[in-house]
Order: sequence, then structure tokens, then C-alpha cells
Amino acid sequence: MLGANDGIVSTASLIVGVAASAAPQDQILIAGVAGLAAGAMAMAAGEYVSVSSQSDTEQADLARERAELETQPDFEREELAAIYIARGLDIALAREVARQLMAKDALGAHARDELGISEITAARPITAAFTSAATFTAGAAMPLLMVLVSPASMLVWTVSAASLVFLALLGAIGAQAGGANILRATARVTFWGAAAMALTAGIGALVGRAV
Ligand SMILES: [Zn+2]
Repeated sequence: MLGANDGIVSTASLIVGVAASAAPQDQILIAGVAGLAAGAMAMAAGEYVSVSSQSDTEQADLARERAELETQPDFEREELAAIYIARGLDIALAREVARQLMAKDALGAHARDELGISEITAARPITAAFTSAATFTAGAAMPLLMVLVSPASMLVWTVSAASLVFLALLGAIGAQAGGANILRATARVTFWGAAAMALTAGIGALVGRAV
């Protein structure tokens, strides 16, 4: 969702900025496509790096936990029991739960309840990279399509207006899904999107006059 927002705002701003410099439509389209590709690559690379380092941290934590389970199993059992006591079990039951879980899969129990790492939450760099590149591309495609269907003279306005509508829609869907205030979320994303496009259009117009 966030990737799609970025795709819309950055590509729409780029298109509006180039269009405001009075560039011809085919060059606007090239700039937009290049912006889409560059943005998707940047999102993928950034996400891959950040999730990889998160994954390294998880692997290091698991290795340390595995070593501790071998060298001090009694201490580790008490540690796990203490977590269940803190969650509301009484001492005897907590110790029994810790004992049974560790008999089945000691590392799994510690990973899940002590480190907060599970199959579902485990960091996956490649998946994360593809997902953010794909959502960025989906967002960037919207303003780019507007360049194709809009008359050249109207381009700045059609691209900005359509992009703000897309942003508002995404904001509303996101707020709905997350149970947040729809009006506030939509207004915020639309306002900052409009600010980004207006600023880039201003810069584009200035530079277009200068060169
Ligand atoms: Zn532990």
C-alpha cells in the first residue's frame, strides 16, 4: 500500500514537473517511464538491504539462543517459564508448559515466545523486495496511463487531478482496512500528494524557463 502511494506521488510529481517545463508529450512519457523503473529499482534495493539486515539480526539471535539452550538448558527453561508467568500463568503451570514445549521444539519455543520470531514474521528479503517494487509499479502506472490518454495541453491538470483521486482512494481503502478514521487519512494523503506535485511543478516551470 505504501509502495503504491510512493509510486503515484513520485511519478505524478515527475510528470507534472517535466510537463510544467513545456516539454513535448513523448519526452514526458519517457521521463515518466524512466521514473517508474528507477523508483521500482530503488524500492526493491532499499527493501532488500533493510530486510536482509533484519534477517541477519534474527539469524544471530537464533544462533545465540541455540548455543544457550545447549550450555544452560535449566536457566533457559526458567527464562521461558518466567515469560509465561508474566503473561498470566501460575508458576507450576508455566514451568510445565515450558518443559513440554521445550521437549518438543526448544529452539522454536524460545524463538517464538522470547525473540518474537515465527515462520510468519521471519524476514524475507527477496519477497519484500519484489512486493515493494510491484506495489510501486502499480502506483506509478496510474499517472503514466493518464499521460497516454490526456491531451497535451491539459496534461498537468489531468495527471494531478487523477493522481489525487487515486491517492484519496488508496488512503480510504487503507484506513478502512486498518480501522482508522477514513476522512482524516484521506485528507492527509491527498494534501501531501498535492503539495509534492505543486512543488515539483513549480521547480519544473522555473527550470524550464531557465534552460
Ligand atoms: Zn531463551
